[in-house]
Amino acid sequence: MARILITGGAGFIGSHLCDHFLERGDEVLCLDNLSTGSTGNIQHINSPNFRFIKYDVTNYLFVDGPLDFILHFASPASPIDYLELPIQTLKVGSLGTHKALGLAKEKGAVFLLASTSETYGDPLVHPQTEDYWGNVNPIGPRGVYDEAKRFAEALTMAYHRTHGVRTRIARIFNTYGPRMRINDGRAIPNFICQALRGEDLTVYGEGTQTRSFCSIRDMVPGFVLLLEKGGPEPVNLGNPDEYSVLDMAKNIIEVTGSASRIVHTDLPVDDPKVRQPDITRARSTLGWSPTVELAEGLEETIAYFRDKLGLQGEGGG
Ligand code: UDP
Repeated sequence: MARILITGGAGFIGSHLCDHFLERGDEVLCLDNLSTGSTGNIQHINSPNFRFIKYDVTNYLFVDGPLDFILHFASPASPIDYLELPIQTLKVGSLGTHKALGLAKEKGAVFLLASTSETYGDPLVHPQTEDYWGNVNPIGPRGVYDEAKRFAEALTMAYHRTHGVRTRIARIFNTYGPRMRINDGRAIPNFICQALRGEDLTVYGEGTQTRSFCSIRDMVPGFVLLLEKGGPEPVNLGNPDEYSVLDMAKNIIEVTGSASRIVHTDLPVDDPKVRQPDITRARSTLGWSPTVELAEGLEETIAYFRDKLGLQGEGGG
């Protein structure tokens, strides 16, 4: 039985990690300041091995007893969130990562950083391999997230090289699934909620920009394998199946059976034009690759939002 600290444990990905480790019989300390996370994501947990601590990881961290793993997932992660919380986003990626790494060093714990495909910015290499250094605008509105995560990666490597902390860096590509918020602002929850409510789907720009979407059900085993079998070098985790945003919107209208239409609005500043992970490293070093088909992943996500929105039956609009 391992003792695990998950920062951002009440968030979308963090709460699925809490479930996974509790099911395995581990002890989980879930830390979250609830700025974008929610107790609704963990309220189903009824285990003596679980503890929720409402805390901001940018402050000094004291944890009693041993820790085997620290998973640092605390951060706003949706573009609308980090545009609204720019300083908190910078602080949690920098000060928060510093505190979490300091704790890992103190406890001899394996540390996993939730990094992001945003470290590649608006990429000039496609698909993105881990050795690509990225194309990031440091002073643009997305810079608060991208640079915080890039700093977090640098700090993680420094703790590994200087203090010998066993570290992992997951570069997480677009992930979707149950427990995303209705007003999360990201493409999949937006499109699903709009389609289910019969509202127009807001495609930013022409919708020719691409993303590659991975189900949370694939992502969780990726993190576990990275913890167990990975090394300090960053590993892309994501589903390489690439779609244009417009095609994704059309697909969601179809699978929800919605009468909604598509409207085009302004493209956000510095919105990456393409994004697709090269997962050769994850395949070869971890033996990991996604298995959940988009149709299947969307179906369970749509069912989740249908329930959240208090809707029943088929279709919307
Ligand atoms: N997007 C969109 N409509 C929305 C939300 C997002 O067209 O209602 C686009 C967004 O401009 C981006 C892509 O969908 O090109 C993915 O956006 P998301 O916010 O999900 O995450 P990102 O990959 O930009 O971090």
